[in-house]
Amino acid sequence: MSALTLFRDATHWRTGERLTLAVEDGVVVPAPRHPGAHARIVDARGAVIAPGLVDVHVHLREPGQSAKETIETGTRAAAAGGFTSIACMPNTDPVVDTAAWVEWVRRRGEAAGHCEVLPIAAVTVGQRGEQLAPLDALARAGAVAFSDDGRPIVSAAVMRHALEYARPTGLPIICHEEDPALKGDGVMHEGFTATRLGLRGIPGAAESVMCRRDADLAELTGGRVHFAHLSYSASFDALRDAKARGLAVTGETCPHYWVLTDEAVADYDTHAKMNPPLRSEGDRDACIAAIADGTVDCFATDHAPHTSDEKSRPFSEAPFGIVGLETALALTLTHLVGPGHVSLERAIELWTDAPRRVFGLPEVTLKPGSQADLVLFDPDAAWTVDPERFHTKGRNTPFAGWRLRGRVLVTMREGRVTHVADGVAFERPVAEKAAR
Ligand SMILES: [Zn+2]
Repeated sequence: MSALTLFRDATHWRTGERLTLAVEDGVVVPAPRHPGAHARIVDARGAVIAPGLVDVHVHLREPGQSAKETIETGTRAAAAGGFTSIACMPNTDPVVDTAAWVEWVRRRGEAAGHCEVLPIAAVTVGQRGEQLAPLDALARAGAVAFSDDGRPIVSAAVMRHALEYARPTGLPIICHEEDPALKGDGVMHEGFTATRLGLRGIPGAAESVMCRRDADLAELTGGRVHFAHLSYSASFDALRDAKARGLAVTGETCPHYWVLTDEAVADYDTHAKMNPPLRSEGDRDACIAAIADGTVDCFATDHAPHTSDEKSRPFSEAPFGIVGLETALALTLTHLVGPGHVSLERAIELWTDAPRRVFGLPEVTLKPGSQADLVLFDPDAAWTVDPERFHTKGRNTPFAGWRLRGRVLVTMREGRVTHVADGVAFERPVAEKAAR
């Protein structure tokens, strides 16, 4: 039997009411009037309690790329960021395109124990975009979605067949939308900054034309399409239109697209190099508008760790991607909730209930009987991003030195504490203290 834990005087994320939330044996239980001597208590005054965050787009890099990240370090970073469930992308070495590898990832995640790991399996064998992977077997092994993320499915015919074969599994295909011919050898957003820096650009249409295509293929097949990491104004329009047409199309965006623009690349900073690239001010505004009007279905980090050596290469040669698990909540609170673009409740929903709905994951609430997957955070605490203190192996963030608001205090997965911030103490009940 696990110890009774009390979060005393926490603020409920949705109702705003003050409550004492109790957890025992992995589930939320009614708060007892007189906690026994074995209880541990967290003084949660001023802190918000919410279901654990869910990140549906993480690169854990295992198998095969453990210099960048491991399932151990990536899931530890997730816990530090307030996440209790994450879905990981199959573009590893080897690619996760067999039932055996899906199971391997799931087991490794369980063994690490820092959060739930939900494997996403490849759509095509080796993510080569040609022959379909055994989608039915992958679903039965526990895959929560299919994706060739890291690269697009170039052939519309392959995408059509993938949607047809995925349909009976009920799982979505997560699309990394990018027309490779339009992208060419571009390394950042096509625009004024790219011209000034003399770097090759990637037009926004490289993303949006593929969104349009896959919305049409969702209509043709009745399959489920989920757009990964949307960055461009016309892509948000494509998602909005698909919904208006009643199609089974959903989409996510990431904190860097509502916080930064391509100007962050200014001095050839490879920590601002990602794919899709940071775009214009107008695109950032379109991203925020699409979040505010409900077009965006959920948030994700696209956490993509790389080694410092890789990111130290010249801009054109450095790999795309930034880490995101340990800054996601604070960037949301500071740059979406702070300026009033969305309420705290809606922002948290986009990291919790919303991704659970899109991916058919079981509901997690704070009601008695619910699985105790939760996060306690101080929405006002300010801190400075120091990549050296990250739990991820990746140091590749454009937010180093940024002052942000919103700090994760405690993360709990199935009633086990998976992260405690420095300075947070678990106390014993007062009566027991006096008896000692
Ligand atoms: Zn991608």
